[in-house]
Amino acid sequence: MRAGDGWLVRVKPPEQRVAAPIARRLAGMATLWGNGAIEITTRASLQLRGIAETALSDLAAGIRDAGLATNDPALEQRRNILVSPLAGDDPSIVGDPLALARGLATLLADPAFAGLSQKFSAIVDGGGVLPLAGVRADIRIALAAEGITITALDGTALASDAADAARAALALALRITLENRPPAPPPPPPSAGFLPYPGHRRGAFAVLPPFGAMLPAMLTTLADLSERLGDGWLRLAPGRVALIGGVDEASADALAAAAKTAGFIVDREDPSLGLIACIGAPECVGGDSPSRADAMALAPLLADDVPRPIHVSGCAKGCAHVGPAPVTLTGVGRAKDGGGLYDLAFAGSTERVGLQADYRLLSIAEAAVLLNRRPLESAALRTPAAPARPVP
Ligand code: SF4
Repeated sequence: MRAGDGWLVRVKPPEQRVAAPIARRLAGMATLWGNGAIEITTRASLQLRGIAETALSDLAAGIRDAGLATNDPALEQRRNILVSPLAGDDPSIVGDPLALARGLATLLADPAFAGLSQKFSAIVDGGGVLPLAGVRADIRIALAAEGITITALDGTALASDAADAARAALALALRITLENRPPAPPPPPPSAGFLPYPGHRRGAFAVLPPFGAMLPAMLTTLADLSERLGDGWLRLAPGRVALIGGVDEASADALAAAAKTAGFIVDREDPSLGLIACIGAPECVGGDSPSRADAMALAPLLADDVPRPIHVSGCAKGCAHVGPAPVTLTGVGRAKDGGGLYDLAFAGSTERVGLQADYRLLSIAEAAVLLNRRPLESAALRTPAAPARPVP
């Protein structure tokens, strides 16, 4: 899709995992054909930004050649399958979510399911140390000791067995109407740091690039670390998380230190984890405010009891998060000092700007003072929209 900093190309690695050599190739593609910015999305895809129009076909060929996409554009649209990110490594995961996810991906190409929505999405969740509860999809396939349950977004549920679950899930998705999806809930809080597998001296290590954005050198470092201290794979999880599996408990500190030096967040208490921000101005020419820089400045100013996540958007388009959040700051212009001016909505989305906003034209410092002063009010004002009030 076209974005304010050039073409944005989304890559959906099958089963959300990329082998270290492929991750290095992706980093090279971002450098060669884009502006170097690589993002992990809230739904565990990758995005390369600032791609020149003349480079699009070369990049697409490179991505297909790396095994990260098929040749079928219609299938690629619908191939939105999230699987337990640590499947195959976390022994506490139930059943074989990877086999089920592969079965789903294969069946999506079957003409019998060509009528599925272009926005079709599915989750295959085997639990474990990083379950996918709280992440929304049209169809959720939950693997538990008692059996497999398939649940559609409209609440329809049915039991299945592993051999039939993929076909039954797609048949259910065909039967129900999902075009009017309600806005997605804010993502659950992401994990960071070492995640030990129960009863084992090994686990996975979760890192986050600040606001999901990294440079090619960061991705290359992560690939190197996965080979040196893990099993050689990078796994992606909802909430903009990258995971290295197969990490020995004794290596966790070394991995944390190296990832932190490379610029990753490795601490689940990091203040920026409760904030969502798009790239914003000036990188995005459509942006009214420098949302990412402002979110970075806002994070350490906030008290612990301010409700999160807080969505800081560079303009009303709301690319980083569609739908409501406990607090939404929507960029509407620039202050004299170069920082942004924001309209604030409690329990709203970027659509609540102007007279619909709860507070108008706040600098980031003013927003921090207001949120710290009124955490209880922020939590209580979930619905409906409060009348607009002047700048405090
Ligand atoms: S929401 Fe952010 S990324 Fe999207 S157009 Fe506005 S400034 Fe650009």
